[in-house]
Amino acid sequence: MFFIIDIMPGLKVLKLLVGTCRSCHHQGELELIKTYQCLRLFFIPVFKWHTRYFLRHSCGAMMAVSEEDAIAMLHVGIMPDQVQVEVMEKGPVRCATCGRILEEDFICCPYCGNNTK
Ligand SMILES: [Zn+2]
Ligand SMILES: [Zn+2]
Repeated sequence: MFFIIDIMPGLKVLKLLVGTCRSCHHQGELELIKTYQCLRLFFIPVFKWHTRYFLRHSCGAMMAVSEEDAIAMLHVGIMPDQVQVEVMEKGPVRCATCGRILEEDFICCPYCGNNTK
């Protein structure tokens, strides 16, 4: 008798909310997501741990939120702008004028010539 045990990282989108991205400062749709590690036995999830909650913006930014705040946004109708977040991952740098994605070390935007620094 042997067991097939593996660990899978999981990600689940819980809700779509409207709020301000703390990375690019644009207002838009933010996804409230939950990530976790999942232990599977014969490919059936048996145990989940290391659950964390984030808000994700389409610019690529990931903002960590506490579990209480995530639950409040999910069930109580609290909006992302009312909770404390920590920006974990920033989206790519964008030109403030034309909005195109820039390499980190560009001094001017190659698309519209706007000075980015
Ligand atoms: Zn953003
Ligand atoms: Zn530009």
